[in-house]
Amino acid sequence: MLLLLLLLSAFGVAVGNQCEELQDGEFFSYGETTSEAPGPSDWYKKWRQCGGNRQSPINIDTSRVRHRHFRTLKIEFDRLGGLVSGELKNNGNAPTFFVDKHKGTARLKGSRLSDTYVLTNFHVHFGCENDRGSEHTRNGHRFAAEIHFVFEDSRGRFAVVAVWLRASKNENTILGRLANQMHKIIDVDESAKIRRAIGIRLMRLIPHKSRKHKTLVLSNYFHYVGSLTTPPCCEGVMWFVLRRTVPITDYQLSQFRVLEGRFPKDPPHMCDNFRPLQPLNRRYVFSVTN
Ligand SMILES: [Zn+2]
Repeated sequence: MLLLLLLLSAFGVAVGNQCEELQDGEFFSYGETTSEAPGPSDWYKKWRQCGGNRQSPINIDTSRVRHRHFRTLKIEFDRLGGLVSGELKNNGNAPTFFVDKHKGTARLKGSRLSDTYVLTNFHVHFGCENDRGSEHTRNGHRFAAEIHFVFEDSRGRFAVVAVWLRASKNENTILGRLANQMHKIIDVDESAKIRRAIGIRLMRLIPHKSRKHKTLVLSNYFHYVGSLTTPPCCEGVMWFVLRRTVPITDYQLSQFRVLEGRFPKDPPHMCDNFRPLQPLNRRYVFSVTN
């Protein structure tokens, strides 16, 4: 048996570290632990990896980051403008847009990635008030919200591009189009089909250095290796937290705040759906500007 495991490892087959999705009826909360669902400080009792020492989110202390030049980080979209369609769902924890890959998605490659990762979903963490909401913090500062673009490779490994949303009077029209859909998924487990005509053009929602046809070049980001920020908290996730923020208006935030959560901190509202900061332990955060 040991020999078999060694052989599997040698051929690059993941052994025992597959990231299992939550089973039906398995729930977690962002509030206090109840008989129905554990809160963040107890997640590890049900999902062992949540107690690991390479967890996310973290505070990014810009005085302690390591400056590096890695290969160019790129997102290649299938459709012009990064137009996507799919299903928007209130899963009880975050409004999540599941991209219909057959109708066009995106691939993340470069930097420290050894493989190509495909966009599967994006979702939003947001606060009940503007002074909080993001999962990652920068020098202790918490932004009003944070979008996670979740990419997965053929071996089931994850890479996430995170974009901080700062409360502002300026408006990002694509974020507005997304926010305008929230009233369709107010109840937990509600979902809505999002057609291309709605115009969710992701290229305009992701700050970038340059764009060429259907490819975005990202620069100016923080990189570290962490985990999923929700159970089962699988580790080995390649994080790319973009330094440039995207504005979100009070009105757009109010559209997210109507969503209901499954076991919310502030019933019945989903807001404040961010995990507490995790210790960095023996990890480096890299600052990449190329
Ligand atoms: Zn997330």
